[in-house]
Amino acid sequence: MPAALKMSGLWSPTLKEEPAEAEVISHRLLLRAGMMRKTAAGIYTFLPLGYRSVRKIEQIVREEMDAIGSQEMLMPIVQPAELWEESGRWEVYGPELARLKDRQGRDFCLGPTHEEVITATVRDELRSYRELPVSLYQINTKFRDEMRPRFGLLRGREFIMKDAYSFHASQESLQAHYDDMVRAYGRICDRLGLAWRPVTADSGQIGGSVTVEFMALAESGEAGLVHCDCGYAANVEAAEAVVAYEAAASTSQPLEKVHTPSVQTIADLAAFLGKNPQHTVKTMAARTTAGALVFFCLPGDRELNLLKAEKIVPAVEMLDEDDFASFGIHRGFLGPVGAPERTMIVADRTLKNELAWTVGANEPDHHLTGALPGRDFAVDFWADLLTAEPGDACPQCGKPLQAARGIEVSQVFQLGTKYSVSMGATFMDETGAEQPFLMGCYGVGITRSLAAVIEQHADENGIAWPVSVAPAEVAVLPLAVDDELVAPVAERLWSELAEAGLDTVLDDRDERAGVKFADADLIGWPYQLVIGKKGLAEGSVELKVRATGDRIMLPLDDAVAHVTGLVEAERARFS
Ligand code: ATP
Ligand code: MG
Repeated sequence: MPAALKMSGLWSPTLKEEPAEAEVISHRLLLRAGMMRKTAAGIYTFLPLGYRSVRKIEQIVREEMDAIGSQEMLMPIVQPAELWEESGRWEVYGPELARLKDRQGRDFCLGPTHEEVITATVRDELRSYRELPVSLYQINTKFRDEMRPRFGLLRGREFIMKDAYSFHASQESLQAHYDDMVRAYGRICDRLGLAWRPVTADSGQIGGSVTVEFMALAESGEAGLVHCDCGYAANVEAAEAVVAYEAAASTSQPLEKVHTPSVQTIADLAAFLGKNPQHTVKTMAARTTAGALVFFCLPGDRELNLLKAEKIVPAVEMLDEDDFASFGIHRGFLGPVGAPERTMIVADRTLKNELAWTVGANEPDHHLTGALPGRDFAVDFWADLLTAEPGDACPQCGKPLQAARGIEVSQVFQLGTKYSVSMGATFMDETGAEQPFLMGCYGVGITRSLAAVIEQHADENGIAWPVSVAPAEVAVLPLAVDDELVAPVAERLWSELAEAGLDTVLDDRDERAGVKFADADLIGWPYQLVIGKKGLAEGSVELKVRATGDRIMLPLDDAVAHVTGLVEAERARFS
């Protein structure tokens, strides 16, 4: 439904001043361009222009969901506690879940997500394998009482999400729909004009769940990523670390104790011994839940990845200052040789080829060189313990990884029977036996996506929308609204563009040219048709392309066809 809008009838209060509280560009520009206003921390009101863009994103998502056979529906925001008690999440969800009571004192919550409601809705009604699969989605407001709402729409407390849930009789069926969703989510990102990467949140390690996060690349993103031109991308935390580690020695050496006074850090040690930090071994102390000591050994220049450490030793905790004394060990001088009895030694796999470890001697002011696993100490587990870094080898193709930051705009998940088992949602299979549904869930952050688009499409003057998300595709800017030539031509071009099917706005306000140009760039109309007296006298108008800054003079008679062609080409790029 292309619109013909007039600025005189549009409430879009733009701001000249930079809003002080806004740290990221999308937050600043959404406020400055008159798209939204803050109602409370992490809670926003969308003004007419901002809401137009929200609805455009919703429509793109709706089209992609409909195309893969997911059906739109709508669930309540207020949800009864009983459902959350059934799933077990009433206890475990924590303070992000906003809880409230009705006048009878019954417990409810504001939905942060809808697995419970959807599962309760289909159980008892979706009874036979013949009715499966079923995929349902809604576009609705979510509430999460985030600890630190920030960055405007990127991390709000109230936000709009598209959430879909699917029910299946077999893993093959779940996998097929999940694959459809993955492709649809990729198309959604493309249509929003986002530069994005699919990230396997848990890079296929044991116990990992089946999920993909769709990350819009942006400096302001909260997620640290490594990625490669071959298409590989992963969370730094989850990425497999493939390190071309150069061993300090390839033949064994005698074990020697070295006096290393006032050496506290790896940097001190490396400097003291004249070694590359990579050729020292860092030992980090932790404890199991049962209170046993664990030493993690890794190349001196690398960081221990706690998530990976926890995969080897569940619920492991790093020691704090006081614990060192209680275990009788010495911070800064830890090592696998002569560790307290029954210490579990977990070593990074890159050290496997190292035949001369430089390690702490487990006594103050001393280190050992030439330590050899198997001879001087035993390693209980070898594992990948490292946080991946740019420059490490891509686990897929071996090329050096690059670093980036990402905004998680959406995520798909195979839930399996987690909710159907806990909530008793079953169907009858071909043999007449009751089986729990296999489920998938799939979320797109509508309002977070809006902010992500701006993070990628903006400059110092304002937003530079892709046409697919812009509140309008073309703006007609008459530079003198009371001029007897300019005004009617502008009005005519505006209505012809709208008739050609373009979302068009006419800046009919009695404002100076400078104000109109500044507002047009701030709001970010993708195509701006400037109608001035001088140009008209020569039979021409000027087209400005917001994204590139290009300016083209067009013959008046050709303007509508030319702009329509450009917008249609651009639309095709985003469809
Ligand atoms: P995050 O890790 O960023 O807190 P999440 O993984 O908890 O997000 P999901 O439960 O996967 O979020 O929700 C699906 C989508 O909803 C997310 O991919 C994101 O786009 C959006 N979303 C989640 N939390 C917020 C929020 N606080 N503000 C805006 N959008 C959000
Ligand atoms: Mg998520």
